[in-house]
Amino acid sequence: MADSECHKRQQRGRKYWEIHSTWRQWTIPTNNVRIRQGALVLRGDTTNSNASVTYFKDGKFYRAAAKAVIFAGQSHTARTACEHLLSASQANAFDQVTLSPVLTANVTLRSAAPIVDLGYDGYYWGSQYWADFVVADWVGPNRSNANRQTVLTFYGGIQRRSKTNPVNGFKLLTTPFSSYEDSLRADLNRVLAGRNFDFDRDVTAVYLYRWGHSMVYPKPGWPFSAPINKNGQVIRVPSARFYARQQLGRISFGAQDVESSPANESALGAGVRTKRRNLTAALTYLRTIRKSSLPLSEKHTDARRKEPCIHEQPKASGPKVLRARHARSGTNSRAGRRKGSEARQQ
Ligand SMILES: Cc1cc2nc3c(=O)[nH]c(=O)nc-3n(C[C@H](O)[C@H](O)[C@H](O)COP(=O)(O)OP(=O)(O)OC[C@H]3O[C@@H](n4cnc5c(N)ncnc54)[C@H](O)[C@@H]3O)c2cc1C
Repeated sequence: MADSECHKRQQRGRKYWEIHSTWRQWTIPTNNVRIRQGALVLRGDTTNSNASVTYFKDGKFYRAAAKAVIFAGQSHTARTACEHLLSASQANAFDQVTLSPVLTANVTLRSAAPIVDLGYDGYYWGSQYWADFVVADWVGPNRSNANRQTVLTFYGGIQRRSKTNPVNGFKLLTTPFSSYEDSLRADLNRVLAGRNFDFDRDVTAVYLYRWGHSMVYPKPGWPFSAPINKNGQVIRVPSARFYARQQLGRISFGAQDVESSPANESALGAGVRTKRRNLTAALTYLRTIRKSSLPLSEKHTDARRKEPCIHEQPKASGPKVLRARHARSGTNSRAGRRKGSEARQQ
């Protein structure tokens, strides 16, 4: 191996180890700052100087306090934990999140031969419950090995669940396992017919997962409300999710639901939005303290680096609910308003 290639690999290995060891820090039980697995957050509180959550773990209640709290579970749990802080309009906005239950199954196959040439994701018609299956170990060179064992992950069709139509979620919980298994058997025997496949011979296990509050259902009017027409100009109007995710004191709301679509991009977007908001607040505070000691040139570049901060506020009437505040001045300056309107268009 050439020296440069060897060096690159060493660097990659080092990087992997650095990332891996940083993540391990989050799980070490003696660290004060760490992830608590199996902890259920029941309540959020906010004051002028901090925010806190009360959580339940191993039969005991705890409270954790910090400068800021981000609720990044699904919004129905945030709504319950913060119910005592919500105005009627914000609670009402949270109630408009529509979630749909989803069914998934992992089916292990003795041999990948019957599906090895079918690609990553196979959709098919005519199932009682299922829509498609993906090959769990498709990413990687082993995907063309017909002799390996493999796992197929099946996804159920998504049905809307709402207050007026809660029956689908209930059905998901009460349908017997055998009914879902029979459907998998009928489907696989049919779609893999002629490929030397027999469900009872070739399937070694079926794992079923019932996700009651799985995905946000982006119904019309949820990403954005219907636009309004003002003197021939179409103006985009924020929908209920913008009201729902308003910051409450030092508590912010992340998660896919209030970004509108059930996708990892929404989850990441929510993380960036809430992080930026909280960091901007913290940096503004620090810079106010530091400002007087900075040389003039540094003050200038420092100010240019600041992000515009969007504050969402419900209005009693009318569609305009976003107000831009320039992070530097903290006022409704013209520059701030312009940046805010750019942000609204995104
Ligand atoms: C079956 C299925 C298939 C999907 N396929 C895709 C796909 O192919 N591509 C794609 O982009 N997206 C997909 N998604 C959507 C994607 O998984 C979600 O959008 C994403 O995981 C949401 O991330 P999140 O961090 O917002 O929330 P989550 O991943 O739901 O994480 C929230 C976490 O908060 C925890 N939590 C909630 N409330 C509390 C509480 N009170 N106390 C403590 N913890 C709490 C939950 O246990 C959970 O661990 C799929 C989702 C499902 C269910």
